[in-house]
Amino acid sequence: MKISSFINGVYVDSKEQRNIKSPVTGELITPYSVATDAQVNEAVEAARAALNGPWGSMGIQERVDILYKVADGISARFDEFLEAECLDTGKPYSLARHIDIPRGAANFRIFADTIKNVADEAFHMPTPDGTGALNYTVRKPKGVIGVIGPWNLPLLLMTWKIGPALACGNTVIVKPSEETQLTMTMLGEVMNEAGVPPGVFNTVLGPGSRVGDKLISHPGLDAITFTGSTATGERVAEAASVGLRDASLELGGKNAAIVFADADIDKAIEGTVRSVFVNCGQVCLGTERVYVERPIFDEFVARLKAEAEKYKFGRPEDPETTMGPLISATHRDKVLSYYEKAVEAGATVVIGGGVPDMPAELAGGNWVEPTIWTGMAEDAIPMREEIFGPCCHITPFDTEEEAVRMANDSPYGLASAIWTENASRAHRVGAQMEVGISWVNSWFLRDLRTPFGGAKQSGIGREGGHYSLEFYTELTNVCIKL
Ligand code: NDP
Repeated sequence: MKISSFINGVYVDSKEQRNIKSPVTGELITPYSVATDAQVNEAVEAARAALNGPWGSMGIQERVDILYKVADGISARFDEFLEAECLDTGKPYSLARHIDIPRGAANFRIFADTIKNVADEAFHMPTPDGTGALNYTVRKPKGVIGVIGPWNLPLLLMTWKIGPALACGNTVIVKPSEETQLTMTMLGEVMNEAGVPPGVFNTVLGPGSRVGDKLISHPGLDAITFTGSTATGERVAEAASVGLRDASLELGGKNAAIVFADADIDKAIEGTVRSVFVNCGQVCLGTERVYVERPIFDEFVARLKAEAEKYKFGRPEDPETTMGPLISATHRDKVLSYYEKAVEAGATVVIGGGVPDMPAELAGGNWVEPTIWTGMAEDAIPMREEIFGPCCHITPFDTEEEAVRMANDSPYGLASAIWTENASRAHRVGAQMEVGISWVNSWFLRDLRTPFGGAKQSGIGREGGHYSLEFYTELTNVCIKL
């Protein structure tokens, strides 16, 4: 298939071609067409026209039926989506099969159900003449929405926004990361097959600094929903402020885990291993700082090391593979620079810290070793900044207060994981975490009805369940004097 932007229901080429490279081998996957400025304008115009067309006036049930067909369309092409996602990201099939692709389809079903079942508020009010008045709210689409997302969970994170946006009757222009454009491109075909009218779903492909920036600066957008780094999030907020457009920002993290001596250590190890190393550490909710109560510190470090040693690098389709590469050579350089900074900051390298030896056919990939450190000061750069690689630092602590203070001492506030068998402590510490999602005895356990987002520099706003509806709809309060 052509890898080009999808505007008004058709794929459109341009003269400028750029290459997509495999993170696994460094070889060319395919060239793609970069959206021109004119094509970005066309996409916004098509989205506006579709909003004012049948989509905007469609009844909820009809829209819900179409979104179910989109979900079914992804499920029907499960293997193709799986192959495309793993080609783009290099992640193991075993991971994408269980998380990325099923969640990509589920995001359409869940938000179709949410919009169908949501109840609107009504208030009866007294009036001086005694007749009273009735207030009720009407939900309307917010309008034309720009959707921008990262490369780590491309289908999952994009559909997490496209699903509710379309369920609420909006139209979208989607800018996936240049690193991972295949599944969003395929989604155009699925939308057509499901009967989504032309112009409702559009994509514009190209580098964020050009095509993304052109999109967020476009005055034709009514709102922008963004997932990515805090630095780009600030740029999105700046662009959205022109014309006072709404922006939902899901940003970076520097997430902490706290493991108390009263934890079930087997569960704590299993959960922490996943939270540090899954997807080669490229998960916004992943743990990069682990605080372990001193009596179990040495055992915990030794067991986490033993688990890290078990990871097997390899091709995504190989069932033995449990760790893929990082997304790009640029990102690998960034992660390796933190590996160096950790050593400069006096870290003890428990395991990893470099680049693994790979067979010749994979030597061009962006591989890095799973890495664990101890002994760094809390103010060292690798302890403060998001690394987004397969690594963590483990710090001992002596009291609950000390652990909570260190975990919360971060400019970020996305997620945390507490491990304890003490129920009072679970509630007490769970609620004290300055984060959007505070897990106790689990990690990545997500109920899509719950609010999702970040505190501090990890974002603004919440999405999920009816919280998504708050962002993707405009409310009109109708007040009728009886
Ligand atoms: P970036 O912020 O670099 O990129 C995110 C998206 O923004 C990409 O599509 C990128 O395009 C685009 N972009 C870049 N510059 C601009 C611009 N000036 N205007 C408009 N769009 C732009 O993040 P990464 O892709 O590196 O993703 C990793 C980050 O995402 C991490 O910080 C991670 O924590 C965060 N994240 C947060 C999540 C959350 O839910 N809170 C979930 C997952 C990740 P391109 O790539 O083509 O340049």
